[in-house]
Amino acid sequence: MRKKVALLGATGSIGKSTLDVLRRGKDVFEAVLFSSHTDSAGLEALGAEFPDAALALSGAEQGASRVGYFGSEGLLQAISGCGADIVVNGIAGAAGLAPSIAALESGIDLALANKETIVMAGPLVRALAEAKKARILPVDSEHSAIFQLLEVHGRENLATILLTASGGPFRTYTQEQLTRVRAQDALKHPTWNMGAKITIDSASMANKGLEVIEAARLFDIPDAAIADVIQVIVHPQSIVHSMISLKDGSIYAQISRPDMRFPIQNALYYPENAPSGFETLDFKQLTLSFEQPDEEKFPMLPLAYQALNAGALYPVVYNAANEVAVAAFLMEQIRFPDIAHVVALALEHNWDGKLELDAIRETDSRARSIAKSSVNTLSFLPIM
Ligand code: MG
Repeated sequence: MRKKVALLGATGSIGKSTLDVLRRGKDVFEAVLFSSHTDSAGLEALGAEFPDAALALSGAEQGASRVGYFGSEGLLQAISGCGADIVVNGIAGAAGLAPSIAALESGIDLALANKETIVMAGPLVRALAEAKKARILPVDSEHSAIFQLLEVHGRENLATILLTASGGPFRTYTQEQLTRVRAQDALKHPTWNMGAKITIDSASMANKGLEVIEAARLFDIPDAAIADVIQVIVHPQSIVHSMISLKDGSIYAQISRPDMRFPIQNALYYPENAPSGFETLDFKQLTLSFEQPDEEKFPMLPLAYQALNAGALYPVVYNAANEVAVAAFLMEQIRFPDIAHVVALALEHNWDGKLELDAIRETDSRARSIAKSSVNTLSFLPIM
């Protein structure tokens, strides 16, 4: 029996890498569902290649004739009805939360590339997974690394998580240079090839901020210990995907070329380890370096710790305000450092409350409107 796979965000960056793993493993995997938000033509091409798979177009109410499900509600129905053994969630942003919940509700294992699911609702989705006996397998490369390391060395022995960051394309820029950065500069990532949102997040280190929150929630780090346990280290080559230190002081690293197919392969085959055919590392050509992140130049990083510290709903605000600010930056409405200003202003409001799905949705939408008014104020300033 082949493992039945549903791939959400099939026409995006994670989707394309996942398709390569599926094509290499045709005897092992059977694709049962593909979704895309708006790429109707891309989805139709997948339908032609995998004629037995259902197709869902979440961002439209009509489209190609082969597509059986439309709109966000249609996508949730498709997930519940597809009979998958594992759902790969490669949807970008907060829109990935409801599909993650739909997969877990149906008791389907979740290979999770959508970090917002954990950032916004980590404790809720983990409790749901436990109740439905479904697994959450991280596909974010850092969290896949930490997950693999903890499997071998034991969660009970963990002392610290050393979360590596590439530092992004502006690692060596001055504050002054950062104010003049344009969207097209930020879209050139030095080591990873990804979608626009995550590439900007990588340039601002918001991606690492989200990953600190993701690690805290995924690996159950007590709130009071987060600042000590989760440490971010800049590693420009993106070869070491993260490290853990154990109680005895020894440190273990997970290492590979920067290629998302590795964590995807790991999640899809879990708990097996299977030949991939991916090119491996040539140590003769390798120089690895590490440095401290510059929190003054990249305030999105300390803001993430601040959000974690402030209360359960603040990470939702951090994520929502950042999504609004990044969209505004991509449209050249605000400057690069304004992204962090928009998020900091949103976090200053009172977001006390219990982590429940309704509260998450309401907080997400209120944080977005607050961030939009900050964007409108800032966008009157000239961009040089
Ligand atoms: Mg990552």
